[in-house]
Amino acid sequence: MKPPIWFIGAGGAHDIQLGNSAALLHWAGKHWLIDCGFTVYPRLVQKGLIEKIDVVCITHLHDDHIGSLSVLLYHRHFISQLPPLPVIAGTPELYAKLYTYLHFLMGEVERFAQLMFPEVYAPYVKAIPTTRLHAPHMPSCAYLFVSPTMNLLYSGDINQPVPILKDAEWIKAHQPLYVFHDVAFQRTPSHCYYEELYPFLGMVQLWGYHCNPREAPEGNRIPLVHEEFSIEKYEA
Ligand SMILES: [Zn+2]
Repeated sequence: MKPPIWFIGAGGAHDIQLGNSAALLHWAGKHWLIDCGFTVYPRLVQKGLIEKIDVVCITHLHDDHIGSLSVLLYHRHFISQLPPLPVIAGTPELYAKLYTYLHFLMGEVERFAQLMFPEVYAPYVKAIPTTRLHAPHMPSCAYLFVSPTMNLLYSGDINQPVPILKDAEWIKAHQPLYVFHDVAFQRTPSHCYYEELYPFLGMVQLWGYHCNPREAPEGNRIPLVHEEFSIEKYEA
């Protein structure tokens, strides 16, 4: 079975053509937007998806992950005239910094967004804190979506496999588990070197994103989300 996720972009921070990594997930009857970088808003407008979104969740605060969040919120408020959009921040530090950021840009945040922790929004989404595993100063988290029939882990940007994956019992308890993971084809301090994900290939169904597939070394064994999960194929 194919997990119900479509990527609006699956590139790295500077891949304008591939677009910032962000996804639309259809889970428990809701349309989740995961991250809203600076290339995301134009693509959502082109696809007519601005008003489809029920909730946004944010992995961290780099511009390729939140750079068009405020314009999305303005659009929904002023053009679509929709109520404040739930925006999920997975840790208290991420919440506080996101609030400060939106307050600086937009003033009265509550007019446009309902900032909240995942467990307040729904019991089926959980944040897995990954702070300092992407950038030293940056609060960050992965998100786990659970359901009776499948589970989905979205890593966010991270310089190593999401630590919970080292727990074989946890993996066993969460089958079937679909994992969408940050990958890099060169070793960097902020993204996950692709070969570090090899041990998990037989244990979970895993795809890599946040990379340029043309830079994948010959022999790369990590399936990449480009094409297969493209928003061009969105059908929910
Ligand atoms: Zn980042």
